[in-house]
Amino acid sequence: MESTAGQSLTLDDIVHRYGGSVAVDHVTLEVAAGELVALLGPSGCGKTTLLRIIAGFITQTSGKVVIGGRRIDELPPAKRNVGIVFQNYALFPHMTVAENVGYGLAARGTDKHAANKRTAEMLEMVQLGHLAGRLTKQLSGGQQQRVALARALAIEPRVLLLDEPFSALDKSLRLDMQIEIKRIQRAAGTTAIIVTHDQEEALGMADRVAVLSQGRLEQFAAPSAVYDTPATYFVNQFVGTANVLAGTLESVGTDGTFVHLDDGTVIPARTPAGLAQGSKVVACVRPENMRLADEPLGALAGTVELGMPLGATIVHEIRTASGQRIKLSEPRMPGTVPREPGTRVWVKPVTASSVTVFAAP
Ligand code: ATP
Repeated sequence: MESTAGQSLTLDDIVHRYGGSVAVDHVTLEVAAGELVALLGPSGCGKTTLLRIIAGFITQTSGKVVIGGRRIDELPPAKRNVGIVFQNYALFPHMTVAENVGYGLAARGTDKHAANKRTAEMLEMVQLGHLAGRLTKQLSGGQQQRVALARALAIEPRVLLLDEPFSALDKSLRLDMQIEIKRIQRAAGTTAIIVTHDQEEALGMADRVAVLSQGRLEQFAAPSAVYDTPATYFVNQFVGTANVLAGTLESVGTDGTFVHLDDGTVIPARTPAGLAQGSKVVACVRPENMRLADEPLGALAGTVELGMPLGATIVHEIRTASGQRIKLSEPRMPGTVPREPGTRVWVKPVTASSVTVFAAP
């Protein structure tokens, strides 16, 4: 099979306005060749607008799009060599699977013999060779999606764009297709951008995740970094779940950072950037980074409200004296059961580095 090795993509200070409203606000992203990057964010954050700018369907208000070191802003969509898989696949229902896959090649005037060979290779890659002659309307959702992917990759795109490609699939098929697309993208070496509002999809599939909010880039990092060290309070709230404990920054610096929580407890934390001693802050800790403690030092006192044995984990909800609810999730050892409601306990973060501090929102 021929390689469709992708090229690097740079979005340089992109701004897009629809009339007076800003949809994309100074976004800069550098995507390496062969990398899969997810654009993740809530509805209206500007993901689709960015994708459409890369594809050339709309022209940005300002900023540059560079593919493989070459500015492509002046090129019409068909000349950009960008493959797209749309949310609804946008297949031609009156054409066969093979005709759909070969469509882009025919439109580019590729020699018929070469086009047929390439189409056959693509169908083999997505394991649909046996359905080449079938009409696409006679296929299942997952099969249609693989045709859409084969069609997008057939033209050997420099960049592959995937716009919420799994939204039409049910949950079990979705996971299969996520793994499948990742495998094909890796094998082909294609640079890919996937738009999604599903954090598990973004964290699971992407080499790096770009988290967007209101047109702004909040964080661009590896999935583990986005989850473990969220750069902003928005990322902390949008990705995963976290306990949010209000307090004051008691000390910050080389001797360690400590937060004086409003309930009186002092806990160590990761040193935040740009926050001075005395600032009103929130200390954010994921449920799996909280533990039941044996003694009160550095721990919050509380009462068990709820304990749930979830097979591999035990989840407790604790209520502190000040009325705050704290969630803990721990691996469950064989034979262990949750604490009874009403039990008095202490809870604390496992490490200082698992506590992320932000200015109070
Ligand atoms: P979703 O997940 O709902 O598709 P999104 O993150 O893809 O959202 P965009 O579609 O890029 O967001 O929209 C970004 C902002 O621009 C939103 O506030 C939206 O209302 C606005 N917008 C999008 N398209 C247009 C348009 N054609 N005209 C005017 N405003 C638009």
